[in-house]
Amino acid sequence: MKKIIPYGKHYIDQDDINSVVDILKNKNLTQGPTVLAFEKAVANFVGSKYAVAMSSWTAGLHMAYLAAGLKENDKIITSPVTFVATSNAALYCNAKPIFSDIDPETINLCSKQLEEKIKNIDNIKIISPVHFSGLPCDMKEIKRIADKHKITIIEDAAHALGAKYEDGTMVGNCKYSDMTGFSFHPVKSIAAGEGGMITTNNKRLYKKLLKLRSHGINKLDDKLINKELAFTDDIKNPWYYEMQELGYNYRITDIQCALGQSQLKKLNKFIDRRLELVLRYDEAFATFNNVKPIQKKYRKLSSHHLYVVEINFSNLEINRAKLMTELRNEGILTQVHYMPVTSHPYYKSLGYETCNYKNSVDYYNKCLSLPLYYSLTNDDQSKVIKLLKSLLN
Ligand SMILES: *Cc1c(COP(=O)(O)O)cnc(C)c1O
Repeated sequence: MKKIIPYGKHYIDQDDINSVVDILKNKNLTQGPTVLAFEKAVANFVGSKYAVAMSSWTAGLHMAYLAAGLKENDKIITSPVTFVATSNAALYCNAKPIFSDIDPETINLCSKQLEEKIKNIDNIKIISPVHFSGLPCDMKEIKRIADKHKITIIEDAAHALGAKYEDGTMVGNCKYSDMTGFSFHPVKSIAAGEGGMITTNNKRLYKKLLKLRSHGINKLDDKLINKELAFTDDIKNPWYYEMQELGYNYRITDIQCALGQSQLKKLNKFIDRRLELVLRYDEAFATFNNVKPIQKKYRKLSSHHLYVVEINFSNLEINRAKLMTELRNEGILTQVHYMPVTSHPYYKSLGYETCNYKNSVDYYNKCLSLPLYYSLTNDDQSKVIKLLKSLLN
């Protein structure tokens, strides 16, 4: 069988295995101390006051939107070039996602168009900037716009754990936002199997997220509402807890957090190697006109979740489907990130039209994600480059 080179892949070493085994042998499987330890490690890494871990970042988006007070007839605004979860979570809240086009240079939300849209649409409660491929959005500008209209900012940093803003500080420190979320799906920066984390500096949001994560039941020092049932002779009843709002079971296990914690220790090493590979690709394509890497000017800031190139297929004999098939025949897997969310049948059925987002459509027609992951060898990468060049010549 041919060796497969996927577009992305997690990396597990013996330390990861040992951390998980230690949980299985000695500790709580869920709701134990490892969840808190992982939360503290991430908060410490990005420089936020608080962090809340949950079963996935999709669950996290739902909770973050709820915590921000999103409800029926409210709106969120985000980029069409994202994974469907960013806007789906607004639909969970019976709110309406609004899309604003990307900047073709960064593939992130275009601040100018964002500002125009926000001026002309009522009830926008949340902006969800997506740091595409790990390149942070222009958060200073987005914050200026949001502050002007009193809009909450929730950063979708699923691609951007370990990325840096222009000022050199870490994505997730919530300097420019109310909450920031990360994903630990195996294809993302670090793996927990499944998992997500929200960081915030706001204690009220922190406490709200803890409650939403576990059925809406009181946590920490939440004031008990039903005093008569809660206390005997002014002392809290030992069995007593109360559900104060409608929450969910969006908890993550200690097993997953043990893996996440041990993976986090390797994150800098992961990103360094990704950057090395990115620069090798850049160099290989520097004099090859048929392939244009995206975000090339911003290599120092990104966490390099993906290596995306734009290929102008309209000038070539080969189309994208054929190219991907030819690559696959040689064991090289590529992917498209992303078809605009508005092109999915479900969004079409809600009346969304992709033609309104010209830059997103142009980008979608050209983009291709090439293999990029920590354990990709230089030799395998060279094979990808050589084959791609020969197919596009
Ligand atoms: C992966 C991803 C999500 C969802 O994260 P999960 O942990 O898989 O639920 C949301 N937004 C973006 C941009 C993503 O890439």
